[in-house]
Amino acid sequence: MSTLEIRDLHVAVEDKEILRGVNLTVRAGETHALMGPNGSGKSTLAYAVAGHPKYTITSGTVTLDGEDVLSMSVDERARAGLFLAMQYPVEVPGVSVSNFLRSAVTAVRGEAPKLRVFTKELKEGMDALSIDPAFAQRNLNEGFSGGEKKRHEILQLELLKPKIAILDETDSGLDVDALRVVSEGVNRFGASGETGVLLITHYTRILRYVKPDFVHVFAGGRVVEEGGPELADQLEAEGYERYTKATA
Ligand code: ADP
Ligand code: MG
Ligand code: MG
Repeated sequence: MSTLEIRDLHVAVEDKEILRGVNLTVRAGETHALMGPNGSGKSTLAYAVAGHPKYTITSGTVTLDGEDVLSMSVDERARAGLFLAMQYPVEVPGVSVSNFLRSAVTAVRGEAPKLRVFTKELKEGMDALSIDPAFAQRNLNEGFSGGEKKRHEILQLELLKPKIAILDETDSGLDVDALRVVSEGVNRFGASGETGVLLITHYTRILRYVKPDFVHVFAGGRVVEEGGPELADQLEAEGYERYTKATA
């Protein structure tokens, strides 16, 4: 069973310390929600684990099944089974969804799938998500609605079958359609037992649809409280105020 382990992770951006000792363990088959106020460092954690060059690891470790993730290139992280969906996907004119997905699958598997095999896989994945077949020929992220962005994100999960998926969601841009797509995708992946999901979110709204096994409250660049789904209900009722006071 796959395990992502983050131990006492400290991360700086432009010499400013943002993450101040993050500890978090995500196992395949578990769904974790990481919740916290704006500016608490949630996206910084996602970028740092993904290997974004702007984020400097000053100390601590990140391992996937005991392998040192921090010494891997971005591609190696993907091949090792880490998947990261960012808040703001980039538009790539001239690259179709289908081409993009085939490249991603090739990068992760280490060899290009036969076109016929890939086409079938893609069709099955799209059918499962009720995606219009024409979507595969659209330019990547160009003019995507919130719901389409999210369908594309979950379609990547279907095809790449990562060991650990980190989904950084602002929720703010999520309409009800997008919310439903993400929730169904996350619930299905959680239930498959093969993928561990870390769902990063500011608003508690999404947790009406997704039932996480674990909830972590993030404030001031570290995890300040942990619990089960009941913690999400408490946050929805009370907000983050008592955590932001404590770390100010
Ligand atoms: P969250 O996702 O919880 O809202 P972020 O990780 O985006 O928080 O930001 C945490 C802090 O780090 C903020 O003070 C933000 O200004 C700073 N920060 C994050 N990324 C960058 C960056 N690329 N350049 C400069 N500052 C950054
Ligand atoms: Mg420390
Ligand atoms: Mg963020």
